[in-house]
Amino acid sequence: MTSEPALRVIMRRLREIMSEPGDGQQRLDKIVKQIAGVMVAEVCSIYLKRQDGSLELFATEGLNRDAVHAVRMKRGEGLVGRCAELNITVNEPEASNHPAFSYRPETGEEIYHSLLAVPIQRSGQVLGVLVVQNRTQKEYSDEDVEVLQATAMVVAEHLVSGAVAGSGASIEIEKSLSAVIQGEKMADGIALGHVVLHEPRIVVTHLMAEDPAAELVRLEAAIVTLRASLDEMFEHEHLSGAGEHRDVLEAYRMFAHDKGWERRLREAVEGGLTAEAAVERVQNSTRARMLRQNDAYWRERQRDLDDLSDRLLRILAGRITSADAPSALPPDTILVARTMGPAELLDYDRRRLRGLIVEDGSGQSHVAVVAKALGIAAVGQARGVVERVTAGDAAIVDATTGEVHLRPSSDVIAAYSDKVRFLARRQRQYKALRDVPAVTADGVRVNLHINAGLLVDLPHLKESGADGVGLFRTELLFMLSNTLPKVERQADSYSAVLARADGKPVVFRTLDIGGDKVLHYLRQPKEENPAMGWRAVRMGLDRPALLRTQVRALLRAAGGQELRLMIPMISTAAEMDPVRELIEKEHQILLAKGREPPKTIRVGAMVEVPCLLFELDALMKKVDFISVGSNDLMQFMFAADRTNARVGSRYDPLSPAPLRALKSLVKASEKYKVPVTLCGEMAGRPIEALVLIALGFRSLSMAPASIGPVKTMILSLDANRASKLVEDLLKKGTTGMRERISAFASAEGIEI
Ligand code: PEP
Ligand code: MG
Repeated sequence: MTSEPALRVIMRRLREIMSEPGDGQQRLDKIVKQIAGVMVAEVCSIYLKRQDGSLELFATEGLNRDAVHAVRMKRGEGLVGRCAELNITVNEPEASNHPAFSYRPETGEEIYHSLLAVPIQRSGQVLGVLVVQNRTQKEYSDEDVEVLQATAMVVAEHLVSGAVAGSGASIEIEKSLSAVIQGEKMADGIALGHVVLHEPRIVVTHLMAEDPAAELVRLEAAIVTLRASLDEMFEHEHLSGAGEHRDVLEAYRMFAHDKGWERRLREAVEGGLTAEAAVERVQNSTRARMLRQNDAYWRERQRDLDDLSDRLLRILAGRITSADAPSALPPDTILVARTMGPAELLDYDRRRLRGLIVEDGSGQSHVAVVAKALGIAAVGQARGVVERVTAGDAAIVDATTGEVHLRPSSDVIAAYSDKVRFLARRQRQYKALRDVPAVTADGVRVNLHINAGLLVDLPHLKESGADGVGLFRTELLFMLSNTLPKVERQADSYSAVLARADGKPVVFRTLDIGGDKVLHYLRQPKEENPAMGWRAVRMGLDRPALLRTQVRALLRAAGGQELRLMIPMISTAAEMDPVRELIEKEHQILLAKGREPPKTIRVGAMVEVPCLLFELDALMKKVDFISVGSNDLMQFMFAADRTNARVGSRYDPLSPAPLRALKSLVKASEKYKVPVTLCGEMAGRPIEALVLIALGFRSLSMAPASIGPVKTMILSLDANRASKLVEDLLKKGTTGMRERISAFASAEGIEI
């Protein structure tokens, strides 16, 4: 057979098939028949990628017809999976000898020896695999490979055009095309880069071991870790009780301790395979045996084995808990995840992170807060994004609109590059305002502070020209640490923060752990409603050692300077008493030890639990300042979970009820001469900041990037006229306040 005629024949036949009547499936059936005929192969099959990354047998000539749409290979499984995952041609004279071979008895393929598989791809995206098989053991010629590759290209074109496979097939054709997903902004900014999937599946690429003895050591160490990790996992207090789940877990654990499994793994490594290849090999051969036992029990055992094997592969790759090694990240990483917690995001090398796309998550979640602190553009509620991308895809995160562009065309990339340049210019304009005081057109001075949580945020203080740090979220230091930081380490960190603030005030908020902010080294019970659970000062008062250590470190760090301490999640005025007692006690200890105390200690409460609004007289007498945590206050006032985007953005803070509450706070603050700040996200949105100033707030704390836009708004604002408008709207209890205020801003030429 020479390539030219064979190729020409196939192309002609493909054209004819396309012009003949028939649905997508019928055309695919004809295509495999033709290819098998021309290539003199006993088998020709087409596997197409499903949404979950598995490969489904869509058409075959030669294998059992019943296997069509019934056989699915997991992502990366078997030779066909390898071909798709690694985007390589596989040419094997004796396929069953290959360590990655996955035996599927339902196809009846055991009589075929040689196998040639090529990826069906378009624009670098693999849509499926085209395979031929023969009974004889033979290596396919270069001409055969060329013919099959060229045929696969044509098949790919027809797949993308929808001419084959049928509309019901939810194959991954989409993955080769540009797409836009509309999500919601989590952290402002625009990022262009390349996709890294959070916790991607491990694909075994290195098959033969150079040093089998060393490989055996690696394997054994991984098995020990696997067993220990399962023991730990299953001893979790919520799993340790009796019940049906216990039997299932025990069976799973028994599998991990199975001597036969371990022996087979060891033998495979002794035979020259890498530990990873051995895991895959044993997984495949055990699966083949299990599938012959056609009952539910064995199918379940097979699932356990698959799970265990995947886990063992992750351990071998050093990825059992955390994500990709930072060095493996591209320098313009766009991280894509189904869900992500703040600590997980912190596992990544921030210097390489540009953007974050998550399927859940909202602007008020703590991962959004961390993303903002890291300066990463982040979009949440990007439905289905994980299924629609492949690692390495180009992507654009536009958090200004909430849009995510996957595999954008060059026009879109050019437009966004312009937009990024424009934003950079805007940033330069904001920078020019750095030393301009935030005074309204009618002479009202507003103090603007930044929210921070890491030492690296401190340079923003100078760059933005802010008046100080209105909220330093101390828990981020704890989240970065692998163990509970001791008093000295904490004191060093806080001193460094104060030193970098260079005399500007810093409000340290004591630990706000709980909710979605989890410290893995602290035992925190799983709660049904963590946001309203054992968090922040509640934990601090119940476990005073934790709070005491932190207060001690803060007192030491602020020797000779002013210390501002802010207590989160205060729910009753009386809760301030034990807190103040604890601080005073630590102060006395510090004095007794002859250390230099802070020049002044000011203790404030965060107002974020609505109950406090009805106890303001009592509260004001117990505090030196208050700060409104509007993120939590709004979630509790509206009973709308800030992390649940379905409800999180359902209610508008610019509505009469919450604004009246905020006004009562300003009034109480004036009456008792207790300064009030607002440090939730709303302070950083110009239109909301406008309303806050109208209500009488003279101090706001926000993400550093918001200082420029908010200051620009303030410079063109007439605070007195805005107050009158808001007063009037509140009196009338008007709905649609946001629109009214927006109209006011545009009529007055205020930039919002
Ligand atoms: C808030 O609740 O508004 C706040 C500033 O605190 P955090 O977002 O850290 O809960
Ligand atoms: Mg809060």
